[in-house]
Amino acid sequence: MVSHRSPTGPESQRGRKFSYGIGTVAAVARPELRHPGNVDGAWYVDERCIDCGTCRDLAPCTFAVAGPQSVVASQPTDPEAE
Ligand code: SF4
Repeated sequence: MVSHRSPTGPESQRGRKFSYGIGTVAAVARPELRHPGNVDGAWYVDERCIDCGTCRDLAPCTFAVAGPQSVVASQPTDPEAE
């Protein structure tokens, strides 16, 4: 599943939803499914990761391989990196 920042307030708790014509898909990672391989911090990957590799391609300093999935290996340290 796509990695996102943890919900921190009422707006973010609603999550971002995308419509694909039939139904709606919630794109926010779920905190209760947080992958145990993530480092502590606001950003994380949940256990629904399908290992597509996009996050590692786009942010190789943040994401790393953890078995058959990706995890956040280093939290972004500035707003531009987020
Ligand atoms: S590899 Fe990264 S972008 Fe792909 S599903 Fe997993 S967390 Fe999401």
